[in-house]
Amino acid sequence: ADQTTSLPDLPADDLAAFREQQQAAYDALLGRGLSLDLTRGKPSTEQLDLSDGLLSLPTSVKDGDGVDVRNYGGLNGIREIREMFGELLGIEPGQVVAGGSSSLVMMRETLVDLWLHGAVDSERPWSAEEKVTFICPVPGYDRHFTLLSWLGIDTVTVPMTDDGPDVEAVARLAASDPTIKGMWLVPTYANPTGQVTTQEVAARLVSMPTAAPDFKIFWDNAYALHHLTAEETKSADVLSLAAASGNPHRPIVFASTSKITYAGAGVAFLAGSPETVAWWTGHLGKGSIGPDKLNQLRHVQFFGSPDGVRDHMRQHREVIAPKFAAVLEVLQERLGGTGVATWTDPRGGYFVSLDVLPGTASRVIELAKGAGVALTPAGSAFPGSHDPDDTNIRLAPTFPVLAEVREAMEAVATCVLLAAAEKLAG
Ligand code: PLP
Repeated sequence: ADQTTSLPDLPADDLAAFREQQQAAYDALLGRGLSLDLTRGKPSTEQLDLSDGLLSLPTSVKDGDGVDVRNYGGLNGIREIREMFGELLGIEPGQVVAGGSSSLVMMRETLVDLWLHGAVDSERPWSAEEKVTFICPVPGYDRHFTLLSWLGIDTVTVPMTDDGPDVEAVARLAASDPTIKGMWLVPTYANPTGQVTTQEVAARLVSMPTAAPDFKIFWDNAYALHHLTAEETKSADVLSLAAASGNPHRPIVFASTSKITYAGAGVAFLAGSPETVAWWTGHLGKGSIGPDKLNQLRHVQFFGSPDGVRDHMRQHREVIAPKFAAVLEVLQERLGGTGVATWTDPRGGYFVSLDVLPGTASRVIELAKGAGVALTPAGSAFPGSHDPDDTNIRLAPTFPVLAEVREAMEAVATCVLLAAAEKLAG
């Protein structure tokens, strides 16, 4: 039954009774020996199977330009895949590089190149600066933050809003502090909160004055095509907006087919101004004579056209949308009206972001672990894994089968209620 009384408003006696009920429910969970995992945004086996046509491709070893893809060469990636994903991402194919299977590797390489050499518009390598700082919209993607700390880059956080990052806060920071060299952004279906950055916010981000002349937006469009509803929202056209504002080198765009085909054997993309692309491949060429073009060609043959990719994404949606629906149903049934939790209702991407009673997220995660349900570690959506309110929990429902998603969420709901009751009683 729906919990209709807001827990924070319960009289002490009722709260004590409620806590006992939840403790009993939790003890019952312990007896069930669950082993469930909602931690990582991985495609399920059923999703991977959708792309098994790749396993018998390519049917030829020459690409559309007659290049033998088995050999060295072609640092920018084959033309046909750059055209296909250029159209899907709204970017000129000449400004797209197709690389190996991981866009995260491309992000790391970009940061290292900036560190060692600076960008096309830098005065010096970033390592020669006394300090480098990045703006991080939060909650965000843990691996973005890990990359920064690995390089010794400082962070300053801004909130995500329904339109994208809090653009007033970003503009104020970027204008006033020359150590602020860049920002992260997952513009479409943010990880983990699902918001889509609007064209207006993007326009402001690429046109705002910045104290650093070489400010970079790491535009990580990992979920550009990953719609959960029939509404196939287009990403903001960041490169055109940037060029039109006279800051063509500000955004660097990343994307991949990790959650389109195979997470371990897809194709990753980087895009930017023509100068940025030449800068990137110039540095890439010091360590590579060319990407896995055979993998790129089999992707081209598998999809046939940009519409082939769109159709394929609808098949993914059929598999995963019910899992998201199950998460939301359980949250609503068990936590709606309790006054101790709020959550996102994403239109795409891979996550639901759950905010529990402040000060209880780590306790919820600990309780869930005790009951055999793995949740992403507390604070992981914040730089330094520090969630100042200890409130946020990232739920990733794509990998487990539907019945397990439901079972895991029932357990999570019990843990949220028990942790809240403990906190309110204490
Ligand atoms: N960027 C975001 C926002 C992600 O959520 C992920 C994976 O979870 C990645 C990048 C990783 O991308 P890739 O598999 O292309 O390295």
